[in-house]
Amino acid sequence: MQLYNSLSHKKEEFIPNEAGKVSMYTCGPTVYHFAHIGNLRSYIMEDVLEKYLRFTGLDVKRVMNITDVGHLTSDGDTGDDKMLKGAKREHKTVMEIAKFYTDAFFADCAKLNIKTPDVVVPATTYIDEFIRVISSLMDKGYAYEAGGNIYFDTSKLEKYYVFGDFSEEDLEVGVREGVEEDGNKRNKADFVLWFTKSKFDDQELKWESPWGVGYPGWHIECSCISMKNLGEYLDLHCGGIDNAFPHHTNEIAQSEAYLGHKWCNYWFHVHHLNTNSGKMSKSKGEFLTVSLLEEKGYDPLVYRYFCLLSHYRKSLVFSWENLDNAVTTFNKLIAKIAPLNQDKSGEIDKAEYDRLYKLFTDALDNDLNTAMGITVLYDVLKSKANAATKLALIAEFDKVLGLDLIKKAEAKAAAPAGGNNADIPAEVLELAEQRKAARKEKNFALADELRDKIAALGYEIKETRQGTAINKIG
Ligand code: AMP
Ligand code: ZN
Repeated sequence: MQLYNSLSHKKEEFIPNEAGKVSMYTCGPTVYHFAHIGNLRSYIMEDVLEKYLRFTGLDVKRVMNITDVGHLTSDGDTGDDKMLKGAKREHKTVMEIAKFYTDAFFADCAKLNIKTPDVVVPATTYIDEFIRVISSLMDKGYAYEAGGNIYFDTSKLEKYYVFGDFSEEDLEVGVREGVEEDGNKRNKADFVLWFTKSKFDDQELKWESPWGVGYPGWHIECSCISMKNLGEYLDLHCGGIDNAFPHHTNEIAQSEAYLGHKWCNYWFHVHHLNTNSGKMSKSKGEFLTVSLLEEKGYDPLVYRYFCLLSHYRKSLVFSWENLDNAVTTFNKLIAKIAPLNQDKSGEIDKAEYDRLYKLFTDALDNDLNTAMGITVLYDVLKSKANAATKLALIAEFDKVLGLDLIKKAEAKAAAPAGGNNADIPAEVLELAEQRKAARKEKNFALADELRDKIAALGYEIKETRQGTAINKIG
């Protein structure tokens, strides 16, 4: 597979260190608030990458941190401890906030068919490990103490700005990150590994360390959690493009200083979801969540589909109109797949299967071209192959796309007399599908229960000679 590598600024053949295995690290969320759909764009595209690597037969181990220690995040623009701010906002403790928003994050991910990584590590559970690595950096002369904090000394590196092309604006953010206007730093780019000085009197989470009671810097989390779980040689590191500097730059600085050799070979960065007023961020502008999409009647998987229609290395503009266009084409796609379920008999047409399968892998092999992958779905539908072949291909591709295409098409086919099912919420269609299965198994009690659930959502379900009809009540 050809993958764009932010380190080399070009597409490269993806070759893992160990044949057949991939170590993959993802920067997880800062759990002080709900994830917005911009954050989730990054996680959706990283999920497609993981699914595709698995699809090609690689054995992927993926690790993610949860940032539950207070920091400036990649939003970087308020200079506040976001966890503490979140706790104050909701009159809860930092750990309560962290638990609530970690659960909310994974609930959103589940709705978007984003697989939970194999290992998920909250930063607060790794404090000893951070202290161990920071101590080693001190011993090796890469870190120094000043004004009570421990800093990484970037002047000790041959090259610090490894990703190269940063604008003045990006570098400004980097300078602000850490401790604002911090006169203790030896060099402008130095960053904090361990804080003992908090600007908050009521800083909640603090730990003993050889340098005094305090808390770790943000960047050290990812280096330590990755190295501990994935070893000294990392294949692939993912994150949103705003994380390239300073976060990933600092991760590389400290990991390679600690290890004494190159750490990670491939860097995968997802570009931003923007609104008309710029990058979607939690601290400014429109902040849209999965729950809000649902409240407005959008199926979360339509948002996933919307993301797949664009390349991950291009910024994507979100507007309701753009999302509505995605709803229309998604429903049309499902409507085209639905009739295939009527006649699944017949042998797989091997030649057509192989031809179309290759079109799909060619698209994804080309730097994860998901938009082209979706186009191949239409090629499948247009093909002269029989329904069995088409369904088999769509089921295969959906292992990567994660859009529940077959399930949704079956639900649609199950309720033909209900008129235009495009107007019926996916949740209702799914319950109808479960009810159909229950009836088939003669579990009428469950079938009735499901009918009641459907009624509670404002729909009634009727058996007619043409099949099952679903209609809005009233
Ligand atoms: P955070 O919770 O702020 O640490 O961010 C979680 C992830 O979302 C990181 O990988 C960020 O780079 C990414 N991210 C933040 N804002 C956006 C955005 N508007 N579009 C895409 N990804 C984003
Ligand atoms: Zn990280």
